Amino acid sequence: EVITRFAPSPTGFLHIGSARTALFNWLYARKHGGKMLLRIEDTDRERSTQAAIEAILDGMRWLGLDWDGDAIYQFARAPRHREVAEELLAKGKAYRCFATAAELEEMREKARAEGRPPRYDGRWRDRDPSEAPAGASSVVRLKAPREGETIVGDAVQGRVAFPNKDLDDFVLLRSDGTPTYMLAVVVDDHDMGVTQIIRGDDHFTNAARQTHIYQAMGWDIPAFAHIPLIHGADGAKLSKRHGALGVDAYRALGYLPIALRNYLARLGWSQGDKEFFTPDELIQAFDIAQVHRSPARFDFVKLENMNGHFMRAMADEELLLALIDTLPYLKGGPEALTKLDERKRAQLLAAMSGLKARAKTLNELLDGAAFLFAERPLAPDEKAKSLLTEQGKARLAALAKRLAALPEWSAATSEAAVRETANELSLKLGDLAQPLRAALTGRGVSPPIFEVMEILGREESLARIADQAK
Ligand code: GLU
Repeated sequence: EVITRFAPSPTGFLHIGSARTALFNWLYARKHGGKMLLRIEDTDRERSTQAAIEAILDGMRWLGLDWDGDAIYQFARAPRHREVAEELLAKGKAYRCFATAAELEEMREKARAEGRPPRYDGRWRDRDPSEAPAGASSVVRLKAPREGETIVGDAVQGRVAFPNKDLDDFVLLRSDGTPTYMLAVVVDDHDMGVTQIIRGDDHFTNAARQTHIYQAMGWDIPAFAHIPLIHGADGAKLSKRHGALGVDAYRALGYLPIALRNYLARLGWSQGDKEFFTPDELIQAFDIAQVHRSPARFDFVKLENMNGHFMRAMADEELLLALIDTLPYLKGGPEALTKLDERKRAQLLAAMSGLKARAKTLNELLDGAAFLFAERPLAPDEKAKSLLTEQGKARLAALAKRLAALPEWSAATSEAAVRETANELSLKLGDLAQPLRAALTGRGVSPPIFEVMEILGREESLARIADQAK
């Protein structure tokens, strides 16, 4: 059985790059009918917070990345990690190291002077712990192989050989008995039965070190896939200045989870030119071996276009529900939420096809719908003000009379009335429709104006026109 895992450290929001890692694990597990487990790596007690845990779980739920079973908390498993370290000591695969801070600093100095990465020199590897000064504190180190090389076969990076002389006897247990990341990860992945590890390529060298632990314990080594990190459009590693870093920010910007998922999957992985996938298609098509090795570039314009596509592809009812669900997070959303009654819902639904044709995000959708939530008298924006000239107002007054006399109120009847009035005043349709739009919506752009009149209804439409007419 295929078992993948997502193993975030809860020290902040759910980073967009981590979300992509989670997505790849999820796609892989779902495609192979396996499981994706969630492990919260909360061993760093100073930096791990409950708020960060919630943010990660919340972000995953929003993206629709469900995990199997309960989340596993790494810190709680520290006794088990110690047990494995003891076992390695007993087998002679690990040893106690009593090197002092000053000695370690000396090794680092030397490495710096020689222009190579620091390496522990193995000075306690073959010494008896009884040689240590009484009461000296110690760490437990892995007795890693010194000769030969360690091969990591990776679905993305290929087969890479790490010379063992470059990999030192790293620490498994700190002097206070707490496990290091390196030990905890291997023990947990083994105990959880993980068969496929998919994570960021910043962990690639760790895979070689972790292989040493698997070998020392005689455990099966899982398959690896180290995926490249996400970079900004300029090629630099994604950072604050590129914009939104946390998944929650994408929700607040009004992206649909299905669009973000589709975009993140397509980032650094492709299947021909196909750009849009249904969730099932994505699961079927995803292939970890086709993930590119070069960094993926995050392109907001592409994401936006993709989001617009998914919005237009959604049924109006479905999009309305997505909008309503997202209101608490959107700019101006909470206020709209307080005004959302049955009538407003019906109006939104009626306006939806006109609104979604003009919006790429839920934020833009809500902004386009502002005329439905606006209260009289409307405060026209600059563009609308420029349309509501003295002349425009006079034309609206003439139109209002004809509209008021309509026996029946609909997009079709109001359109006929507007056309007739324009004819009568020898105007082009736009010369009348533009001030009308400004009066009804307070904007220079809106869904088709006759639809707007039908949606607002006779009473509200006439009142808004009267507010602005002369
Ligand atoms: N907790 C690690 C991180 O957030 C991931 C460890 C792993 O996937 O092995 O980077």
